[in-house]
Amino acid sequence: MKFNFRIPTDIYFGSNIVYENKDVFCSLGSRAIIVTGRNSAKKSGALADLERALSETKIQYCIFDRIENNPSVKTIGNAAALAKDFKADMVIGVGGGSPLDAAKAVGVLTANPNMAVMDLFSGGFSAAVPIIAIPTTAGTGSEATPYSVLYVEEQSTKLSFSGKCTFPHSAMIDAQYTNSLSLYVTIDTAIDAFTHVFEGFLCNNATWLSDALALEAIRVFGECLPLLKDETKTSEIREKLMYVSFLGGLVITQTGVTIMHGMGYCFTCFKDVSHGRANAFLLPAYLDYVGKIAKTKIDKAMKEMGLSSAAEFLLRIYTLVGDAPNLTPVEAAMFTKKTLLQTKSIQNTCRLTGEDDIHSIWDQFVK
Ligand code: ZN
Repeated sequence: MKFNFRIPTDIYFGSNIVYENKDVFCSLGSRAIIVTGRNSAKKSGALADLERALSETKIQYCIFDRIENNPSVKTIGNAAALAKDFKADMVIGVGGGSPLDAAKAVGVLTANPNMAVMDLFSGGFSAAVPIIAIPTTAGTGSEATPYSVLYVEEQSTKLSFSGKCTFPHSAMIDAQYTNSLSLYVTIDTAIDAFTHVFEGFLCNNATWLSDALALEAIRVFGECLPLLKDETKTSEIREKLMYVSFLGGLVITQTGVTIMHGMGYCFTCFKDVSHGRANAFLLPAYLDYVGKIAKTKIDKAMKEMGLSSAAEFLLRIYTLVGDAPNLTPVEAAMFTKKTLLQTKSIQNTCRLTGEDDIHSIWDQFVK
């Protein structure tokens, strides 16, 4: 067994963590750009806490609050332009995965003012201004990863980039910010967090250490699963879901994700299915596909969640998300071509995966 575990991010976890650690901001600079979406930072209370912290530490700041779900290259360019105009020396991402991923892109583009947004995907950068991540959903774990996933219009797909400098400097994780989420978003993001740890657990790159983290997250997710469908119970599990999401970030930083994520982007880009649900709809086919060679690990994961079988697990997921969209044969063929662009996810999958395999999985959605 060989591995290198690197997570340079300072992790702060708990209630009121942003305000209590306001000195972190002034240790990093004096001019911040806050990168966020239209609503979540305000609705969650995170923006108010952050503005209070920045004001009291005399940090000048501007706000870019137009990050969309699946942030586009154009939007990233606009945010980076504001950061450069403002002479920001740090980027604070507040929100779900999209604003956090956008903050990483803006962090690199601010430190490399002549770089075009598309250059992010070819790597070759080594500097970013410090990035602080404040999640308001319990799903992506982006606060603990170097990954940034952006929507590239010309290719009609999501592509990711990462570098040593794109780890957030600090992650401030306060589960209170998820209190205002709807049940729909809570379920969606929780399943995304689960798929990170589950795919990492079944991934080619899994190590003893990533497995230990994944199993802990799978166990805690198992405690949350029976309560996820009941809106009156979600407050009991918010902190645990945030913990699962954070652990998911640690796991996929080590392992990467697999074809379930690589395929899920097609549902998101072409069927307007949110990210977590896209993964949820693929879970049955994925389990069937990798189950041929990963049965022992799948059984272990189910046991860790207190479930008797993968079938019981899939039934529980189905009761949360319902039926997957149907595809036409033409869509299945097109989705196959798009999935082939996700080369890393394919390489990470524990079963050797070719075009025919991917096509046969998409064909299961043709009705
Ligand atoms: Zn994900």
